Amino acid sequence: MRCPTCKKEVDQPAAGEALPKHFPFCSDRCQLIDLGRWLDGKYQIPVVDREDRNTPPPDDPPVLD
Ligand SMILES: [Zn+2]
Repeated sequence: MRCPTCKKEVDQPAAGEALPKHFPFCSDRCQLIDLGRWLDGKYQIPVVDREDRNTPPPDDPPVLD
C-alpha cells in the first residue's frame, strides 16, 4: 500500500505483527502532515476506511456565503 500523504510505498506489517504507530503512513512526519490537513478543515468528512482513500480530497472547501 502507499502512504496517504506522499504516496511512497509503505510495507504492510505481517499478520500478528504490531503496527507502527504512524501506520498507514510511511513516517511520523507524514502522519503529522495528514493531521495538519484535518486541523485546517480541508477534509470535509471523517475517513472511516483509510485503505479506500484513493481519491485526494478537494483542495478548496465549499464556499459558504
Ligand atoms: Zn509518506
